[in-house]
Parts: sequence; C-alpha cells; structure tokens
Amino acid sequence: MVATPILPLEAPSPAHICPFDQACSYLDQAARELKLDAGIIDILSNPTKVITVSVPIRRDNGELQVLAGHRVQHSDILGPCKGGTRYHPAVTLREVSALAMLMTWKCALMGIPYGGAKGGIAIDPKRYSVTELERITRRYTSELIKDIGPSVDIPAPDMGTSAREMAWMMDTYSMNVGHAVPGVVTGKPLSIGGSLGREMATGRGVMIIVRSALADLGKSLEGIRIAIQGFGNVGGAAALLMHAAGAKIIAVSTSYGGIFAEDGLDIPALKAYADNNRRSIVGFSGAEPISNAELLTLPCDVLVPAALENQITKDNVHQIKAHIIAEAANGPVTLEASEVLEAKGVIVLPDILANAGGVVVSYLEWVQGLSYLFWDEERVNQEMEQLMVRAYHQVIAKSRERGISLRLAAYTLGVGRVAQALKDRGLYP
Ligand code: NAD
Repeated sequence: MVATPILPLEAPSPAHICPFDQACSYLDQAARELKLDAGIIDILSNPTKVITVSVPIRRDNGELQVLAGHRVQHSDILGPCKGGTRYHPAVTLREVSALAMLMTWKCALMGIPYGGAKGGIAIDPKRYSVTELERITRRYTSELIKDIGPSVDIPAPDMGTSAREMAWMMDTYSMNVGHAVPGVVTGKPLSIGGSLGREMATGRGVMIIVRSALADLGKSLEGIRIAIQGFGNVGGAAALLMHAAGAKIIAVSTSYGGIFAEDGLDIPALKAYADNNRRSIVGFSGAEPISNAELLTLPCDVLVPAALENQITKDNVHQIKAHIIAEAANGPVTLEASEVLEAKGVIVLPDILANAGGVVVSYLEWVQGLSYLFWDEERVNQEMEQLMVRAYHQVIAKSRERGISLRLAAYTLGVGRVAQALKDRGLYP
C-alpha cells in the first residue's frame, strides 16, 4: 500500500526531490514494517488541516506586498500540534507539509504528547527590515488566530526565525484574545516564559546522539574529527558543545562559504567572528577556504549536515567519506543516498532522532509554562538528555530486533505509536 495524499498540494518541479513524496516514502516503509491497514496509512499520509493565508504588508518604502503564509497541521492524534515557523525563499506548501509530517513522527518517537505541524513564508528575511519582519509576523499570526493556541497548535522558531519572532507571535495572539498567553509559542525569550537551555537545545541533542553512537563503538568525542555544514542555531550550538567535549571541528560552512583547518578550528573564536561578520565565517584566520560541496566529502569521522534538506544525494553519496552522519537538519540525506550509505556501513543518525532536542526543550518550556514553575538550566538539560538517550536506545534496539536501518527503526517507532493511538481513539463520528 502506497501513501496517497488527497490534498491539493502544488506539483513539484520534475528536477526537484519532492520533500512530501520523500516523507510519504518513509511512512510507507514504516507502514510495511508495522503491517498497517490501508485505511490507517491513508489517514496518516494526509495532514489534518492545511492553511494558506494572505499576508499583506506595507514595505518601509510605502509599497504594498502580499505574501502567502502557510501552516500545516499534520496530526493532533497524540496532543496539540507542534512545529516551527520557517522564513526562507524555498518555502512551499509541499515542503511545509512534509516537515509537519516529520514533526508528528519525531514527537511520537521522543514520547512527548504532541502532533506535528509546520509553518512558513517564502521570504528571504535578510531582504526585509526588522520593522517589516515584525509586520509580516504579526499579520501572519493574526490570520492564524483561530488555528493556533496552547492546546491547539504551538509554533516555534525554525530557519529564519528566532525568539524575536516568537515574542511578536505571542504578543499578537495575546492582544487578540485579550490576555497574556505565553504558552501559544515556544522558543520565546526568557522574559516572557522561555526556557533556559532552549537556544542550544537542538545542537545539544545532536551532540548527545553523536556521543551515544560513539559510545556504542567504544569511543568518546575526544579527538573525533567532525565537519559541520551550517553554523546557525543548530550547527553553531552543536559545534560549540562538541568542541567543548574535545572533538576537533575540522570544517564548517555557511551560505557564504566554508572553512577548513586540519588541526581543528577554535570554535568559540569562530562564533565570535561570525557574530561580528553578519554570520559569515569566510576569512577566519588560520583556516583555508572550502566550498560546501568539498565540506560534505571531506575525510572525517562524523559529518553533521545542519543547514538544508537534500544535501547528500545520489550525485555525491559515493564521495562521502564520513563514518557517521548526524542529520541535524531535516532531510539532509535523500532516501536513495541513505540506502547507499547504509549498504556501505555508514551510520546515519536520522533527523527525527538527531535533531529532536529542540522540540524536546520546547515541550519542557510548555510544561514549565503550564505549571508556572521554572527550572534551572541544569534541570532542563538533564530532563532533555534523559528523553534523547531513551529514544536513542529504543531506536538501536528496534533496529537490531528487526534488522532494519536506524532511520526505518525511528520511523517505525514514531509511526507505530501514532497508529496505535489512532486505533485506541477510534474514528469520529
Ligand atoms: P539557521 O537559519 O539558524 O542556520 C542555518 C545555517 O545554514 C546558516 O549558517 C546558513 O548560513 C547555513 N546555510 C544555508 N544555506 C546553506 C548552504 N547552501 N550551504 C551551507 N550552509 C548553508 O537555521 P537552523 O535553525 O540552524 O536550522 C538548520 C536546520 O536544522 C534546518 O533544516 C531546520 O529545519 C533544522 N532544525 C532546526 C531546529 C531548531 O531548533 N532551530 C530544530 C530541528 C531541526
């Protein structure tokens, strides 16, 4: 049985790897493993709600512009929908739908009571002023006012958005309903109920999963050679934490280009350099320039793609030399490339496990907010680590028990839990 989405998502361009088709392929594989009924697969392959709103804004020069704002709620079977808000030129309804589905499996895999969602607007935030971004975010939020809320759908930051946008979303929602509702978003500033540890959470989760995989090989992070694509929220935090644990970060790249240093980069100094150079790392002293394509194929122990999807494909997979790939971004390795890597014995730590630290701490932020009781950073990190390590061991155990890849094991666990909940809840009416 092949997952057959019924929703009118726009067709992908033929040359492009369609993220939604890829997400459905993973669902199909897990469904076969779980021997799910065709009807259940149909329910799970279709988002519960697909929303596209018109976001008219006035640019600073007085011109009017109308943007399309998407929000896709894939599932609310396990609890309120949860997922980031992406501002990036490549955002499409198909991509948002795929990412919403991934969020459903990720939350289920981590054992947290959420369904999956995702939102996005196809803009390059670098081309908008802060005041324009605020107008975009507030109008987008007010158009979604009936569809989000602390027990309905809880947005968070993703590529191109941060705590700043979450504060605007929280304020807009609160003004519309007439009272402060911090729980409507996560990843917000500490001043309005954000959680300590949230900023570094996804990178910390990546570090914990890589460390666990190394421990299974009898190794630690000490002296391990790591290349990281992307030096933003996720890649930057993962680099800092793995460097602090003794790893050698030999290469890093951003959209401006990459750098390489055989003996390892001084990551705290690089972070300070990037912060002072509009996030570019090009020109950092003591390092050679390197292209993004070269970074991916460097000889190293661990490769961490932490930028965009579809970075390792059938075209470059045969040049990959890393022994472990930790999918910090969503979908950085295509299905085809994954199969080649697994056949070669490369350990691919799948996205729904490796980058789940962010949603786990979002969940902890939501729990703290609902209970009006805020924890210190040590407690947040401990609780998060427990959930990450538990999921890692469950994935390893499932993979060994069924003789399947780590990715299929992770999907089988996530999809299986949602399917079970669906069967237990039954169908309304
Ligand atoms: P970000 O915008 O903070 O950083 C993205 C980084 O990737 C930047 O350094 C950017 O320069 C770089 N980049 C962009 N295009 C590139 C290219 N072509 N080559 C090399 N580098 C490039 O975004 P982020 O929040 O770090 O998210 C990165 C990925 O992680 C995304 O796939 C996102 O969905 C995923 N993710 C993020 C979180 C989170 O908590 N932020 C959680 C889970 C998954």
